[in-house]
Amino acid sequence: MRHRIAVIGGGPAGLTFARVLHRHDHPVTVLERDPARDARPPGGTLDLHEELGQLALGKAGLLAEFQALSRPEGQAMRILDTDGTVLRDWQPRPDDRANPEIDRGQLRDLLLGPLDVRWGRGVTEVVPGTRDGVLVRFADGRQATFDLVVGADGAWSRVRPAVSPATPHYTGITLVETSLDDVDTRHPDLARLIGDGSMAVFGVNRNLVAQRNSGGHVKVYAQFRAPLDWHTNLDRHMGLNQRAGLDLADVEAVRSSLLALFDGWAAPVLDLLRHGTAFVHRPLYVLPVSHTWAHVPGVTLLGDAAHLMPPLGVGANLAMLEGAELAESVTAAPGPGDLDEAVRAFEQQMWARAGRWAKITMAGLERLVSPDPTEALALFDEVQPS
Ligand SMILES: Cc1cc2nc3c(=O)[nH]c(=O)nc-3n(C[C@H](O)[C@H](O)[C@H](O)COP(=O)(O)OP(=O)(O)OC[C@H]3O[C@@H](n4cnc5c(N)ncnc54)[C@H](O)[C@@H]3O)c2cc1C
Repeated sequence: MRHRIAVIGGGPAGLTFARVLHRHDHPVTVLERDPARDARPPGGTLDLHEELGQLALGKAGLLAEFQALSRPEGQAMRILDTDGTVLRDWQPRPDDRANPEIDRGQLRDLLLGPLDVRWGRGVTEVVPGTRDGVLVRFADGRQATFDLVVGADGAWSRVRPAVSPATPHYTGITLVETSLDDVDTRHPDLARLIGDGSMAVFGVNRNLVAQRNSGGHVKVYAQFRAPLDWHTNLDRHMGLNQRAGLDLADVEAVRSSLLALFDGWAAPVLDLLRHGTAFVHRPLYVLPVSHTWAHVPGVTLLGDAAHLMPPLGVGANLAMLEGAELAESVTAAPGPGDLDEAVRAFEQQMWARAGRWAKITMAGLERLVSPDPTEALALFDEVQPS
């Protein structure tokens, strides 16, 4: 039976869901708020795990294309002390395909393929249980109804309120992101420092991570413990001897505050901030660990909308696997009653797995941005292959 299915959001969760439905010849309406495919920068690099994101790509029939695009060498990981001493330098084996990296933009294009996304369709509200099904209202005043509405619309989901009152809360840790272009030609010393994959330096309650993307692009993440309004008074909140508020849109002011925050760290490490082109402020929010809800017929959630957790390398992976699994369950459901049973069973499976990962990533975040920097090193020693 052909169910009327809409997925709200064209991120990793929504596109994987739609792509697997497409592979099974089941129609799906993909509704995305962004006005066009390239309306905003797609973001950094993602490592896709064999047992999560890669499994999902296999279900979408896209594993071979992923393997051709991805960067196994990106699994390399180097940890430096704040004085620049190399503490660890893990290199992947030549045949290691456990967690290769792919640029988010490349992954999005791979998943988009033949999908017919309705761009510029921001959803404002989802109302389950109307006579004709689940009602979806759009920002432009239009509306439509479906048998199943899947909320894959990320951290600040507009679908979530239809099933759960939960909202994300601040973790107490903020991330400021910057980037470097053409690193191999413009900053060869930094290119050598970063290596083929990622490089991280851990200090007291703060860290700096640099990650190589394709084409010589590098993303740099400065993470630190701070109140949400840390930028309003750097003296009181960060001990930086700067009373005036920081304008987060002022690139040079943010750069100089970050350099003050990481003062005393090795000069080559601080060059990552000195050469960064723009700074994006990302306070880290999470949903409660083990977030679940009483099942609502016709509506469900995937990915960050269901279980926003700290960015420790699994959010997109889980989002994609959930998308693939829900699509497979839905195509195997012959009638309307079966559709609801399939969604219920999917939710149980998603909650159990996501709950385990939410605990792991919350504990991991505490150790990566810790008063004791040796905690971060110990965490890497536990998870990196010896
Ligand atoms: C700095 C950083 C690094 C990360 N690194 C990794 C990593 O290496 N590996 C990993 O697995 N995860 C990583 N993550 C986590 C990962 O980014 C997320 O878990 C993942 O993007 C979730 O996918 P999603 O499809 O659920 O949501 P999103 O990627 O947020 O996609 C949601 C989509 O919905 C659209 N949308 C939003 N609201 C509406 C609306 N009202 N109507 C219509 N459309 C809407 C948005 O425009 C967007 O396209 C990282 C996160 C951060 C912040």
